[in-house]
Amino acid sequence: MSEDTTPTEEAAPEELAPFKIEAARSSRSKCRTCKRAIEKGKLRLGVLLEGPYGTGYLWHHLTCAARRRFEDVEEAYEQTCWAPEVEVPPLDELKKLREKAEEKKKSKKEIPYAERAPTGRSKCKHCNEPIAEGGWRIVLGRGVEFGRQVRTSPINVHPSCVQAELLAEDCMTEVEGFAEALSANSVGLAAGEIEEALAAVGEL
Ligand SMILES: [Zn+2]
Ligand SMILES: [Zn+2]
Repeated sequence: MSEDTTPTEEAAPEELAPFKIEAARSSRSKCRTCKRAIEKGKLRLGVLLEGPYGTGYLWHHLTCAARRRFEDVEEAYEQTCWAPEVEVPPLDELKKLREKAEEKKKSKKEIPYAERAPTGRSKCKHCNEPIAEGGWRIVLGRGVEFGRQVRTSPINVHPSCVQAELLAEDCMTEVEGFAEALSANSVGLAAGEIEEALAAVGEL
């Protein structure tokens, strides 16, 4: 058995904590989050797994775990799941990693969505006029050919240009279900704001 699932030679399963933080004892374990090796000495979080072939820990880089399964990290900290000699970073530091990861996730939004233009520098891809700072801009998908493939790339348009753009041949956003999709994808906007954006788009 590889060190990926460390066999429980020193303790009976019922004595194992649900989590364990430790410095990797070798470079042989693999992080279940990023799929890369965990270098010897790097802090790793073990999540106890009870499987048909025994009980053991599945490992993650502590930093990867903070980004992707912060609740587990929090619990491990609450229960102080590490040996006294292990030096763990403050939980706040790990929380910052999580927050950054969440922000990144948010910036990879699904199309279509609405947002306020953060500057006055963006232009509407439909009419080619600038979009005012703080004004609504609607992000739609436009098909762009890459060789023989067509990929959807995000384009900014004025709310008042949405209707015409949706009818364009290379538009990859459907008219049908547009309002629902926009509401679902515009994470970070309050319900009232989404309504406002939809009102600016008008009847489709
Ligand atoms: Zn990792
Ligand atoms: Zn426009």
